[in-house]
Amino acid sequence: MTDRTDLPAPQFSTLAVHAGAAPDASTGARVTPIYQTTSYVFNDADHAASLFGLEAFGNIYTRIMNPTQAALEERVAALEGGTAALAVASGHAAQFLVFHTLLEPGDEFIAARQLYGGSVNQFNHSFKKFNWNVVWADATDPGAIAAAVTEKTKAIFVESIANPGGLVIDLPAISAVAKKAGIPLIVDNTLATPYLCQPKLHGADIVVHSMTKFLGGHGNSIGGIIVDCGTFDWSTSQHRYKTLVDPNESYGGMVLAETFGNFAFAIACRVMGLRDIGPAIAPMNAFLILTGIETLPLRMAKHSENAVAVARWLEACAEVAWVNFAGLPSSPNHALAQKLCPRGAGAVFTFGLKGGYDAGVKLVSGLKLFSHLANIGDVRSLVIHPASTTHRQLTDEQRISAGAGPDVVRLSIGIEDVADLTADLEQALAALS
Ligand SMILES: *Cc1c(COP(=O)(O)O)cnc(C)c1O
Repeated sequence: MTDRTDLPAPQFSTLAVHAGAAPDASTGARVTPIYQTTSYVFNDADHAASLFGLEAFGNIYTRIMNPTQAALEERVAALEGGTAALAVASGHAAQFLVFHTLLEPGDEFIAARQLYGGSVNQFNHSFKKFNWNVVWADATDPGAIAAAVTEKTKAIFVESIANPGGLVIDLPAISAVAKKAGIPLIVDNTLATPYLCQPKLHGADIVVHSMTKFLGGHGNSIGGIIVDCGTFDWSTSQHRYKTLVDPNESYGGMVLAETFGNFAFAIACRVMGLRDIGPAIAPMNAFLILTGIETLPLRMAKHSENAVAVARWLEACAEVAWVNFAGLPSSPNHALAQKLCPRGAGAVFTFGLKGGYDAGVKLVSGLKLFSHLANIGDVRSLVIHPASTTHRQLTDEQRISAGAGPDVVRLSIGIEDVADLTADLEQALAALS
């Protein structure tokens, strides 16, 4: 976008189409090209030295940055209201780099019990190898989160809308706990997207996404992103976030928090975590996700509207014991959803079958239009029975607290015609009895 000071600041749908993507300076190409290159020629030896010393911004090597990736980062940072962003290979890579930047061995962080099953595994198992210790707390009870804070706690991690339960989390209340403890609040905004909820407005300091889901939106690319909200002051924090505040030996003693101020966290994730761990996003995937985001506002409006219609229809079905969706007026979570996600509560929700585990397994095989697979946030409608798939590795207690008990079916409602979706559900439910 050309900066026009005589025009009002662009709004959300305009940013979704234009942010980060000016016509290509050398070719005039209107759509951001797929810069399918590993490396970039330096102007001269001094230029090369200044890039490596972080004295100038520029491309060196696609493990660390790439122009297609940069356009995507600028767009998502603009949509989230952040100062900078870092796109990486997957949502899990984004989470890994966030904690790699924040934690030292022996540190603790608090995570919501209501989380995506893959995140539960990542925190419980792989993080243990680094001696990063997760403490689980009920995110529907900010008091329980406050009670879990110790002097070793370095961050709080929650989802804005929790997967798979479709539960809207009280971000302002949890942000107050984080602020009191002097630690950053990290929000996984995958299910809401910035169209439905902008966590920064509710006190988040760092936002992460699995762009694999609604941001990309078409089920064709894995990707993740870290957004630095620019709100946390690393330099004056009572806790020592060493990657940010200690002199960095690999950059001539530079202190990242001092040099980069309110976007130091995004820089640190890039120049330390991404540089050394290496989960770079492929330029092709960055391109597909960038294109997907252009229709994000239209898709999210349709996804949310369809989800409410399908959920209402399910509520009236004899085979269905309950429907858990913050988008329904019957939900105890509805008022909070209207406050934090006024445009809709997303399109991922769960319902329970009176026939329990066996009915769940049978239903997923009986559906024809819904695809039975382990993903969400696709234009196509998707279904899964978490207890026999995504949440299989968890204990019964973990499954139930994550909203994935034996009778639970999870839907991710697409942008098809509602009548076709309910017709498919009707024939599959009828086959249960
Ligand atoms: C899918 C998902 C992730 C993990 O993202 P990947 O891109 O699959 O690595 C993290 N959080 C939530 C809420 C997700 O739905």
